[in-house]
Formats: sequence, structure tokens, C-alpha cells
Amino acid sequence: MMSIIIPAYNEEENIEMTASVISGIMEENKIPCEILFVDDGSKDRTWELIEKLAGTNPFVRGLKFSRNFGKEGAIFAGLKHCRGDCAAVIDCDLQHPPQLMVQMYGLWQQGYKVVEAVKASRGKESFLYKFFAKSFYGLMEGSSNIKIKGGSDYKLMDRQVIDALNELPERITFYRALSSWVGFKTAQLEFDVAPRNAGTTKWNFKKLFKFALANLTSFTNAPLHFITVMGIISFIAAVVLGIFQIVLACRGVPQNGILPVILLVDSVIMIGLGIIGYYMSKIYEEIKGRPRYLVCMDTLDKKGAAK
Ligand code: UDP
Ligand code: MG
Repeated sequence: MMSIIIPAYNEEENIEMTASVISGIMEENKIPCEILFVDDGSKDRTWELIEKLAGTNPFVRGLKFSRNFGKEGAIFAGLKHCRGDCAAVIDCDLQHPPQLMVQMYGLWQQGYKVVEAVKASRGKESFLYKFFAKSFYGLMEGSSNIKIKGGSDYKLMDRQVIDALNELPERITFYRALSSWVGFKTAQLEFDVAPRNAGTTKWNFKKLFKFALANLTSFTNAPLHFITVMGIISFIAAVVLGIFQIVLACRGVPQNGILPVILLVDSVIMIGLGIIGYYMSKIYEEIKGRPRYLVCMDTLDKKGAAK
């Protein structure tokens, strides 16, 4: 059975349509499924509609948050409560073409553990939004070794991957990157982002900026090392300037020598901070408590111990 997890925040205009389109596609392709709506503390009639659907449609289940906790929380709640052998996460506004799930399911049946839908085109987005998205992915990929460019939250995962994600103890999660961090045999499918079915986007600049910052800091320690690099640059500048001034002083040009001293003191402070930062990054890594490895297959039992 396949679970379809749909985070929904103020989506009263979309719930019924999305449920009927998806269950239509699943029935047509004879894919046994459950549709799990996670209402992320909506203020409109979203929950009322989910409850109504759950009453009439045996495939629909729902979960409601006490307030708006954000899409990440909704996705992870869905992963925790889904009952399928695999689960797909899809937006409620039909921007992720639901038809693609049939192909994703097929690939899963062929043995892929993660099937990612990657954006071939980003759909209608403002220039600024595209610019920030590009810089964010550039920074993320440059400073961690996770490839998430063109990534979306539209993914299908095997039960093994869902369990691995559910077992991660960290609280600040970034589903899109974590689902690639866990590894496993992965396939990719391209899709074009469709326009929103109804309603408006539930994100704003402030929310996105906070989201980007939280994700960058949970996947890379690069900002912590920045200060060390600045310290080293400052130190080199102090030495060069110092030598320069000494040479000039020897030739009889009067020098006051204060700048190299300031630079030297600064560089010592910055390098010191960098060292503290380095230890902090280690503490941070430990605190996240991610498993050191994940096993996807083994033949341990088959061989058996020699008796
Ligand atoms: N969403 C959510 N909680 C939020 C914001 C969004 O669960 O705080 C859901 C929303 O209902 C939708 C999905 O996340 O199903 C994607 O949101 P949206 O379409 O607004 O984002 P965009 O497509 O503009 O990136
Ligand atoms: Mg959308």
C-alpha cells in the first residue's frame, strides 16, 4: 500500500479537488493507497473538509496540528503516522503533477528506495525569488556535500527510508536535504511546476528567509569557519604591513606602527574565536545525534556463524 502525505495550510479551496484527483489516478492505475492530510493549524475550513472526506472516502485520513507549525513539521508528522509500504509527499495545490506518482510507484516496485521529482522548470516565480533560491542551493551544495538543486518536497520513499527518517533525533529538520542525506538507491524524475490550483502561496519572504537560514546552519558549519579565514587574512596583512613599515623606518621614513599592531591583535582574537567555533561545530554535530551510518541491505544472517 502507498501512503500519500499532503501537508495543508489554509487550503479549503483545494482539499476536495486534490483528494478526488489523486484518488481518481490511484484507482485508475489500481494502486492501493491511503491519503493522509496533515492540517498544519489552518484557520479556514480545511479541517472541516478533511473530516468530511474522511467520513465518506475510506482512503482518506487526517491529522490536525494545534497551530501552524510549518510544512516541515507537517511532513514529518505524515511520515510518522503513515501506514504504507512506501509514501509520497505532495503539495495540496496540485503544483506537483499527481500523475507522476504512477511512474514513481513503478520505479519503487523496481526496487528504488527513493524516487525524487526534480524541477525541470521552476514555474512562475519572481526574479528575486529565483535569485534567492539559486543562491541558497548554491551555498548549500558548496558547503555540504548534499545535492539538492532543483529539488522539491515531491518524493516517494520506501518504508525503510521512512523509518530511517523517523528515527533521526534532531528537531531542526530539513526534509528535502535529509531525504538525500539518508542515501539509499535513488531515482529521479523531472517535472514542470504547474500553476497553483487555487488560493495563494502560504510562504512569505520572512518565512522563507528564516527557513533558508535554519537549513543552512543545520547542514553546514561554513559560517563558523569564515571567522578563522578572516583572522588568517588579518594576520598576513599585519605581518606584511609590519615588514613594510620596518623597511621604511630603516630608510629613515618615520612610521607610527599602530596599524600592524591593531591588525595583529584583531587577528589573534579572530583566530581564537575561530577555534572556539570549531569546537562548537563539533558539539553541534554531536548534538544533532544523527546515526553514523545506515544499512540498506545485509547478508549477515544468511552466511551464519561457523559452529
Ligand atoms: N504548507 C504547510 N504549512 C505552511 C505553509 C505551507 O503545510 O506553513 C503547505 C501548503 O498547504 C502546501 C505546501 O505546503 O500544500 C506548499 O505550500 P505553497 O504552495 O504555499 O508553497 P509554494 O508552492 O509557493 O512553494
Ligand atoms: Mg504551491
